[in-house]
Amino acid sequence: MTVKIHKHDAIIVGAGGSGLMAALYASREADVAVISKLYPTRSHTGAAQGGIGASLGNDEEDRWEWHAYDTVKGGDYLSDQDAVDILCKDAVEVVIELEHMGLPFDRFPNGRISQRRFGGHTNNETGRPVQRACHAADRTGHMILQTLYQQCIKNEVNFFDEFHVVDLIRVDNTVRGVVAYEIATGDFHIFHGKAVLFATGGWGRCWEVTSNAHSLTGDGAAICLRNGIPLEDMEFFQFHPTGIFKLGILITEGVRGEGGVLINSEGERFMERYAPSIKDLASRDVVSRAIYLETKAGRGINGQNYVHLDVTPETVNHYFKQDGYTDRAISREYIEEKLPDIADFTRTYLGVDPVKEPMPIQPTAHYAMGGIPTTTDGEVVIDAQNTVLPGLFAAGECACVSVHGANRLGTNSLTDLVVFGRRAGRNMAKYCQTAEHLPLPEGAADSIIAEFEAIKANTDGPKHNELRQKMQNVMTEKVGVFRIQELMDEAILDMGKLREQFNSVTIDDKSNQYNTDLLEAWELGCLLELAEVTATSAAARTESRGAHARDDYQKRDDENFLAHTYCFKTENGYRLDYQPVIIDRYQPKERVY
Ligand SMILES: Cc1cc2nc3c(=O)[nH]c(=O)nc-3n(C[C@H](O)[C@H](O)[C@H](O)COP(=O)(O)OP(=O)(O)OC[C@H]3O[C@@H](n4cnc5c(N)ncnc54)[C@H](O)[C@@H]3O)c2cc1C
Repeated sequence: MTVKIHKHDAIIVGAGGSGLMAALYASREADVAVISKLYPTRSHTGAAQGGIGASLGNDEEDRWEWHAYDTVKGGDYLSDQDAVDILCKDAVEVVIELEHMGLPFDRFPNGRISQRRFGGHTNNETGRPVQRACHAADRTGHMILQTLYQQCIKNEVNFFDEFHVVDLIRVDNTVRGVVAYEIATGDFHIFHGKAVLFATGGWGRCWEVTSNAHSLTGDGAAICLRNGIPLEDMEFFQFHPTGIFKLGILITEGVRGEGGVLINSEGERFMERYAPSIKDLASRDVVSRAIYLETKAGRGINGQNYVHLDVTPETVNHYFKQDGYTDRAISREYIEEKLPDIADFTRTYLGVDPVKEPMPIQPTAHYAMGGIPTTTDGEVVIDAQNTVLPGLFAAGECACVSVHGANRLGTNSLTDLVVFGRRAGRNMAKYCQTAEHLPLPEGAADSIIAEFEAIKANTDGPKHNELRQKMQNVMTEKVGVFRIQELMDEAILDMGKLREQFNSVTIDDKSNQYNTDLLEAWELGCLLELAEVTATSAAARTESRGAHARDDYQKRDDENFLAHTYCFKTENGYRLDYQPVIIDRYQPKERVY
């Protein structure tokens, strides 16, 4: 088989917010290729609804230090505080930069960028919610993606759309490019570069009910793992409290930011019991667990495992008054204007009109706090001692800087994409100025081509969708919102068996053009590995922290676990190591909301 070779300085894999921001900055000084399995503007960033966090203080006082404290507290003290400072300080400048690029943010009547309240964002002096989420209705991610894509086109970034990257070319401690499969033709290509950046997004598809797009299968993280790079803090996967019942489609936290409340079968606003001060706007881990406990105690609606999210003006205005916001009131027109997509989703998928009736919701697998470990300049590190692998970078959800710690605050992912995407892109361009194209090894694509041929050649084995369903059931039941040792240990064994069955996975479509059957089988291999790493990292952490909540170890254990997990793939299975968290201004405290 002939393999076509392309040569560029900087190879960026992924065209979501982080990949495009990195590409935009790198392209100012280097020749950049962006490779994406999706058409760029179909990346999941385009689905982000509620907003991007920055302490602009456009309608009330706010400070970046408050944003930093909220991020560290929300992350249950596992965030590296040097990285958090960069995130929250740079956020202000980057949001204004996006505005200047043409991003059509909503406006306050005074003409400034409109901001709304979101979970865990507070005025640190009063403890009350603060308006920090900058938004363009409930289509903030869509606007970011379109804006950055246009800027990249203007900067003459080379796009390779619908090319699926399947391997990294690493020789000892150097990086020489990637191998990609062209979806339209089934041809393999090598992208020969001086540096590579992964910006491939998350892996919510490991679980059954998820807000994540079908394409979020963790390819970049799995490729790194297979190439000797550890994955950091994989046990921390966020369940967003408000997914549409059974479907998992996200209902943005912006709904609660605008005043929406959670109600159980007894008509009670139960978050008053779990988070007396900030109530429905507590951090996501806290709210997801509360919903789970309510339904377990029989207070789910109709005895089922869901509760109501109520944003009808009657209910919202009632609770505004009760909470002391006497100058605030919303109308149906306001909801239609601020949350048009949400109103559309619930009408279309549920037949529920959110301005007139409450929406049925349950927690949905949403966001990977962990991932490919990087420095604050986006350089990938290969051990818990922070040894950099020269020429390899990562940014966005697939990376772990780590700013989100054990639980991400709403709106901080979009901030992370643009703040650290920008830093990684700049740094990558700088690296390319002195680095050279090292020669490609002989047969660099051979082993991955053989892997694809083997999948095609299998005749007698399970279908990938059967195995995927089994994996999702295991992860939901055994490595979900609440966890215990016995079930996590079982999950590890289950994953081992599923991986064995995966060796004989079969597909129906043996053709070369647009063979999604083949690619989905390959993606399942990535998901299985990430699921196993998640279960392995989780089983070893005998404490509860952020999104990792254990029934058998209910307390946070700072003595033993104020540390990042590093999980390595070795010939003898997985190996774990730990790295101390960078603590600066904010000493660990008990989290009270
Ligand atoms: C429904 C929803 C709503 C959200 N709302 C918000 C919000 O309001 N605020 C907020 O801060 N966060 C929000 N998030 C989280 C946030 O949107 C994501 O974490 C973020 O957009 C991820 O961006 P990314 O650049 O890392 O990757 P993505 O945008 O996911 O893009 C991944 C890119 O990688 C490419 N890719 C993947 N694998 C390969 C491969 N093998 N080969 C080639 N290309 C590949 C894809 O084609 C794609 O271009 C939301 C998430 C969801 C799911």
